[in-house]
Amino acid sequence: MPHPGVVEVPHGRRVADLVGGADRTVLLGGYHGRWTKAGDLLVDRAALRARGATWGAGVVAVLPGATCPVGEVARVARWLAGESAGQCGPCVFGLDSLASDVEGLAANAPVDLSRLSRRLGLVRGRGACAHPDGAVGFLASALTAFADDVAVHATGRGCGRPTLGVLPTGAER
Ligand code: SF4
Repeated sequence: MPHPGVVEVPHGRRVADLVGGADRTVLLGGYHGRWTKAGDLLVDRAALRARGATWGAGVVAVLPGATCPVGEVARVARWLAGESAGQCGPCVFGLDSLASDVEGLAANAPVDLSRLSRRLGLVRGRGACAHPDGAVGFLASALTAFADDVAVHATGRGCGRPTLGVLPTGAER
């Protein structure tokens, strides 16, 4: 989909047809959704749920090759941390720590990936609402979907691409 917008697609359509191929990495379900390969996934809530994905609010995003996916995910991680209502410790402190880890990774700072993974597990299921779970699902799936980029950033060299800020967070207004 070359331009952002609202489109109506028939139930059962292949996600790959929407995003330009089965090999494309796609975010399904918005910022409480999951990053995944389009593969043979279908636009079908039950079928997506059965595969560990979600249609959520119907938000679908793909990243252009020119931007750094780790930087894009870091921007959204910081936004998600800022959206905490400030009532539950694991949400307030956990999402902030996760955002800091991913920001560090994007900036090629030394980040302990096993600690990041542990932190994801510590935040999951700990809030009074589903916000932390949604954020953890987004981040954990991003670390898997962009594992090659994460590994390059973890070496301190980075991927060499700028972060263009294509995933909206409100900061671009
Ligand atoms: S888990 Fe939900 S209720 Fe608790 S602080 Fe976060 S947003 Fe608020």
